[in-house]
Amino acid sequence: MTENQTYLLVISPHPDDCEFGVSGTVARLVKEGKQVVYVICTNGDKGTGDRTLTPEQLAVIREKEQLAAADLLGVKETFFLRYPDQGLEDGHQFRRDLVRVIRRYSPFAVATADPYRKYIWHRDHRITGLVTLDAVFPCARDHLAYPELLEEGLEPHKVKEIWFWGTEDPNYRLDITDTLETKFAALACHKSQVGSLSPELKDRMLNFARRNAQGEEFELAEAFHRIELRN
Ligand SMILES: [Zn+2]
Repeated sequence: MTENQTYLLVISPHPDDCEFGVSGTVARLVKEGKQVVYVICTNGDKGTGDRTLTPEQLAVIREKEQLAAADLLGVKETFFLRYPDQGLEDGHQFRRDLVRVIRRYSPFAVATADPYRKYIWHRDHRITGLVTLDAVFPCARDHLAYPELLEEGLEPHKVKEIWFWGTEDPNYRLDITDTLETKFAALACHKSQVGSLSPELKDRMLNFARRNAQGEEFELAEAFHRIELRN
Protein backbone atom coordinates (compact mmCIF):
# COMPACT_ATOMS: atom_id res chain seq x y z
CA MET A 1 0.00 0.00 0.00
CA THR A 2 1.21 3.51 -0.70
CA GLU A 3 0.90 6.52 1.55
CA ASN A 4 -1.90 7.78 -0.67
CA GLN A 5 -4.19 4.93 0.31
CA THR A 6 -4.71 5.81 3.96
CA TYR A 7 -8.39 5.34 4.76
CA LEU A 8 -8.53 6.73 8.29
CA LEU A 9 -6.25 9.19 10.06
CA VAL A 10 -6.88 9.16 13.82
CA ILE A 11 -5.88 12.33 15.66
CA SER A 12 -5.78 11.58 19.38
CA PRO A 13 -5.28 14.25 22.08
CA HIS A 14 -3.54 11.82 24.47
CA PRO A 15 -2.24 8.29 24.28
CA ASP A 16 -5.33 6.08 24.97
CA ASP A 17 -8.11 8.44 23.72
CA CYS A 18 -7.99 6.75 20.32
CA GLU A 19 -8.51 3.36 21.98
CA PHE A 20 -11.53 4.56 23.96
CA GLY A 21 -12.97 6.45 21.00
CA VAL A 22 -12.41 4.50 17.83
CA SER A 23 -10.31 1.34 18.29
CA GLY A 24 -13.21 -1.08 17.68
CA THR A 25 -13.68 0.58 14.32
CA VAL A 26 -9.94 0.66 13.66
CA ALA A 27 -9.73 -3.09 14.28
CA ARG A 28 -12.59 -3.65 11.83
CA LEU A 29 -11.10 -1.42 9.14
CA VAL A 30 -7.72 -3.13 9.42
CA LYS A 31 -9.44 -6.54 9.09
CA GLU A 32 -11.05 -5.23 5.91
CA GLY A 33 -7.59 -4.36 4.58
CA LYS A 34 -7.90 -0.60 5.06
CA GLN A 35 -4.94 1.48 6.21
CA VAL A 36 -5.12 3.42 9.47
CA VAL A 37 -2.55 5.94 10.78
CA TYR A 38 -2.40 7.38 14.32
CA VAL A 39 -1.27 10.85 15.37
CA ILE A 40 -0.91 11.35 19.13
CA CYS A 41 -0.86 15.07 19.96
CA THR A 42 0.37 15.23 23.57
CA ASN A 43 2.75 13.05 25.54
CA GLY A 44 0.21 12.48 28.33
CA ASP A 45 2.73 13.47 30.97
CA LYS A 46 0.15 14.63 33.52
CA GLY A 47 -2.09 11.57 33.40
CA THR A 48 -1.30 9.84 36.68
CA GLY A 49 -2.08 9.83 40.39
CA ASP A 50 1.24 8.10 41.09
CA ARG A 51 3.49 10.61 42.84
CA THR A 52 6.60 8.49 42.40
CA LEU A 53 6.56 9.00 38.62
CA THR A 54 8.19 12.01 36.97
CA PRO A 55 6.46 13.54 33.94
CA GLU A 56 9.40 12.39 31.79
CA GLN A 57 9.06 8.79 33.01
CA LEU A 58 5.31 8.87 32.45
CA ALA A 59 5.69 10.19 28.89
CA VAL A 60 8.06 7.32 28.04
CA ILE A 61 5.68 4.75 29.54
CA ARG A 62 2.68 6.15 27.70
CA GLU A 63 4.44 6.19 24.35
CA LYS A 64 5.35 2.51 24.77
CA GLU A 65 1.78 1.69 25.78
CA GLN A 66 0.44 3.53 22.73
CA LEU A 67 2.80 1.71 20.37
CA ALA A 68 1.76 -1.64 21.86
CA ALA A 69 -1.93 -0.82 21.34
CA ALA A 70 -1.34 0.40 17.77
CA ASP A 71 0.68 -2.72 17.02
CA LEU A 72 -2.06 -4.98 18.39
CA LEU A 73 -4.66 -3.21 16.21
CA GLY A 74 -2.52 -3.31 13.07
CA VAL A 75 -2.22 0.46 12.76
CA LYS A 76 0.17 1.22 9.92
CA GLU A 77 2.08 4.10 11.56
CA THR A 78 1.95 6.11 14.78
CA PHE A 79 3.27 9.66 15.04
CA PHE A 80 3.89 11.44 18.31
CA LEU A 81 3.71 15.23 18.20
CA ARG A 82 4.81 15.28 21.88
CA TYR A 83 3.13 18.47 23.03
CA PRO A 84 2.94 18.64 26.83
CA ASP A 85 -0.25 17.26 28.38
CA GLN A 86 -2.69 20.16 28.97
CA GLY A 87 -0.40 22.21 26.72
CA LEU A 88 -2.31 22.34 23.42
CA GLU A 89 -3.36 25.71 22.04
CA ASP A 90 -5.50 26.67 19.07
CA GLY A 91 -2.58 28.19 17.21
CA HIS A 92 -0.45 28.26 14.10
CA GLN A 93 2.11 25.64 15.09
CA PHE A 94 -0.29 22.87 16.14
CA ARG A 95 -2.56 23.55 13.15
CA ARG A 96 0.36 23.31 10.74
CA ASP A 97 1.48 20.03 12.34
CA LEU A 98 -1.97 18.58 11.67
CA VAL A 99 -2.17 19.98 8.13
CA ARG A 100 1.23 18.44 7.43
CA VAL A 101 0.15 14.96 8.47
CA ILE A 102 -3.23 15.25 6.69
CA ARG A 103 -1.47 16.19 3.45
CA ARG A 104 1.18 13.51 3.88
CA TYR A 105 -1.35 10.69 4.30
CA SER A 106 -4.28 12.03 2.25
CA PRO A 107 -6.88 10.11 4.27
CA PHE A 108 -10.46 9.50 3.19
CA ALA A 109 -11.62 10.21 6.76
CA VAL A 110 -10.23 11.79 9.93
CA ALA A 111 -11.38 10.69 13.41
CA THR A 112 -10.86 12.84 16.51
CA ALA A 113 -12.50 14.14 19.70
CA ASP A 114 -15.70 16.18 19.37
CA PRO A 115 -14.81 19.78 20.29
CA TYR A 116 -18.44 20.74 20.94
CA ARG A 117 -19.13 18.57 23.96
CA LYS A 118 -20.56 20.83 26.64
CA TYR A 119 -19.01 21.81 29.97
CA ILE A 120 -16.55 19.30 31.44
CA TRP A 121 -14.28 18.11 28.66
CA HIS A 122 -10.51 17.95 28.80
CA ARG A 123 -9.19 21.09 27.14
CA ASP A 124 -6.76 19.02 25.05
CA HIS A 125 -9.78 17.12 23.66
CA ARG A 126 -11.66 20.33 22.88
CA ILE A 127 -8.65 21.99 21.26
CA THR A 128 -7.62 18.89 19.28
CA GLY A 129 -11.14 18.66 17.83
CA LEU A 130 -11.25 22.34 16.94
CA VAL A 131 -7.80 22.49 15.39
CA THR A 132 -8.39 19.27 13.46
CA LEU A 133 -11.58 20.74 12.02
CA ASP A 134 -9.74 23.87 10.87
CA ALA A 135 -6.79 21.83 9.59
CA VAL A 136 -9.09 19.66 7.45
CA PHE A 137 -11.08 22.63 6.20
CA PRO A 138 -9.87 24.96 4.88
CA CYS A 139 -6.14 24.64 5.58
CA ALA A 140 -5.31 21.17 4.14
CA ARG A 141 -7.39 22.02 1.07
CA ASP A 142 -5.89 25.41 0.17
CA HIS A 143 -2.48 25.53 -1.46
CA LEU A 144 -1.90 29.08 -0.19
CA ALA A 145 -2.37 27.97 3.42
CA TYR A 146 1.02 27.02 4.84
CA PRO A 147 2.97 27.46 1.56
CA GLU A 148 6.03 26.05 3.32
CA LEU A 149 4.31 22.66 3.21
CA LEU A 150 4.20 22.85 -0.59
CA GLU A 151 7.96 23.32 -0.46
CA GLU A 152 8.10 20.07 1.53
CA GLY A 153 6.29 18.41 -1.40
CA LEU A 154 2.95 18.17 0.40
CA GLU A 155 0.10 18.89 -1.99
CA PRO A 156 -3.35 20.06 -0.81
CA HIS A 157 -5.78 17.33 0.16
CA LYS A 158 -9.56 17.18 0.52
CA VAL A 159 -10.68 14.97 3.39
CA LYS A 160 -14.12 13.52 2.68
CA GLU A 161 -15.37 12.80 6.20
CA ILE A 162 -14.67 13.74 9.83
CA TRP A 163 -15.81 11.40 12.61
CA PHE A 164 -16.00 12.92 16.09
CA TRP A 165 -15.95 10.53 19.05
CA GLY A 166 -17.08 11.54 22.54
CA THR A 167 -20.01 13.28 20.90
CA GLU A 168 -23.30 14.30 22.49
CA ASP A 169 -24.86 14.34 19.02
CA PRO A 170 -24.21 10.98 17.35
CA ASN A 171 -25.37 10.53 13.75
CA TYR A 172 -23.14 7.65 12.63
CA ARG A 173 -22.84 4.23 14.24
CA LEU A 174 -20.28 1.64 13.22
CA ASP A 175 -20.53 -2.05 14.01
CA ILE A 176 -17.92 -3.27 16.51
CA THR A 177 -19.71 -6.49 17.50
CA ASP A 178 -16.79 -8.59 16.26
CA THR A 179 -14.05 -6.28 17.50
CA LEU A 180 -15.05 -5.23 21.03
CA GLU A 181 -12.69 -7.85 22.47
CA THR A 182 -9.86 -6.42 20.37
CA LYS A 183 -10.78 -2.96 21.66
CA PHE A 184 -10.49 -4.28 25.24
CA ALA A 185 -7.11 -5.82 24.42
CA ALA A 186 -5.86 -2.54 22.92
CA LEU A 187 -7.11 -0.60 25.94
CA ALA A 188 -5.39 -3.04 28.28
CA CYS A 189 -2.07 -1.97 26.72
CA HIS A 190 -2.56 1.38 28.50
CA LYS A 191 -1.77 -0.07 31.92
CA SER A 192 -0.80 3.31 33.40
CA GLN A 193 -4.34 4.50 32.66
CA VAL A 194 -6.63 1.48 33.03
CA GLY A 195 -4.64 -0.83 35.31
CA SER A 196 -5.79 -4.37 34.63
CA LEU A 197 -9.00 -3.21 32.84
CA SER A 198 -11.47 -4.18 35.56
CA PRO A 199 -14.62 -6.21 34.86
CA GLU A 200 -16.62 -3.11 35.94
CA LEU A 201 -14.96 -0.94 33.28
CA LYS A 202 -15.47 -3.64 30.65
CA ASP A 203 -19.12 -3.87 31.66
CA ARG A 204 -19.58 -0.12 31.38
CA MET A 205 -17.99 -0.14 27.95
CA LEU A 206 -20.10 -3.11 26.83
CA ASN A 207 -23.28 -1.32 27.92
CA PHE A 208 -22.13 1.89 26.22
CA ALA A 209 -21.49 -0.06 22.98
CA ARG A 210 -24.96 -1.62 23.27
CA ARG A 211 -26.59 1.79 23.68
CA ASN A 212 -24.60 3.11 20.72
CA ALA A 213 -26.10 0.35 18.55
CA GLN A 214 -29.73 1.01 19.47
CA GLY A 215 -31.89 1.09 16.36
CA GLU A 216 -29.26 -0.69 14.27
CA GLU A 217 -29.18 -4.26 13.02
CA PHE A 218 -25.97 -4.99 14.89
CA GLU A 219 -25.48 -5.42 18.62
CA LEU A 220 -22.47 -3.24 19.50
CA ALA A 221 -21.28 0.05 18.05
CA GLU A 222 -19.01 3.03 18.33
CA ALA A 223 -20.96 6.23 17.73
CA PHE A 224 -19.69 9.40 16.08
CA HIS A 225 -20.86 12.74 14.86
CA ARG A 226 -19.97 12.48 11.19
CA ILE A 227 -19.44 15.46 8.93
CA GLU A 228 -19.35 14.86 5.18
CA LEU A 229 -17.39 17.52 3.34
CA ARG A 230 -18.28 18.60 -0.14
CA ASN A 231 -15.14 20.61 -0.79
ZN1 LIG B 1 -7.51 12.39 26.69
